[in-house]
Amino acid sequence: MSAPAPEPADLLAAVRARMAHAATISQRKVDEITLVAISKTHPTDAIRPLIEAGQRVFGENRVQEAEAKWPALREAHPGIALHLVGQLQSNKADEAVLLFDCIHSLDRPSLVAALAKAMDKAGRQVPCFVQVNIGAEEQKGGCAIADLPALLAETRVAALPVIGLMCVPPLGIEPAPFFALLDKLASDHGLAGRSMGMSDDFETAIMLGATHVRVGSALFGARA
Ligand SMILES: *Cc1c(COP(=O)(O)O)cnc(C)c1O
Repeated sequence: MSAPAPEPADLLAAVRARMAHAATISQRKVDEITLVAISKTHPTDAIRPLIEAGQRVFGENRVQEAEAKWPALREAHPGIALHLVGQLQSNKADEAVLLFDCIHSLDRPSLVAALAKAMDKAGRQVPCFVQVNIGAEEQKGGCAIADLPALLAETRVAALPVIGLMCVPPLGIEPAPFFALLDKLASDHGLAGRSMGMSDDFETAIMLGATHVRVGSALFGARA
């Protein structure tokens, strides 16, 4: 007989305890760190128990999937914040600005323009992280480190509310140096937010300054 599946509330409590431990040993306050529960690919039936256990900040990586899942959940459970953590096409900027409360994947000039226009039109300011291609990976989203100063300058001209930097380090190698680098880049540019750390490495990210950790499988189980 296999072990019973863990309860969502227990998984949430375990992640929160690990966050608190990492915060304590790095002399930080855990309530300065936002847990973004990444619910991509998981149906609303899997999400609802986490909401009932008290989780209020969720993340999705696709506009269309979020549009299909979240209006009903939000209607039933007020006070939820929804974050976009996946690549955003400029032609989806209007929808994204109406649906999400934070965007972690601002990574190019065309998107600066599209988001500025969409926020203007919607009369709604959505805080953004600029995603940095921290490992200089060919196929990965994010702005090249060399292009970051110019991109940030464009966000200031467009008056976009940029609150920090975000990264996804290369798979399969020690992430700590990349978290430290993102922390340094954010400091250099006077930005308070650092969106970094996922299920396998969020404690390391917290010890290196993460303000937002994006945790999926440790809360929901493995994705299909
Ligand atoms: C899927 C995803 C996560 C969560 O990954 P887990 O390893 O399941 O915790 C975090 N950030 C981004 C950008 C993602 O796409």
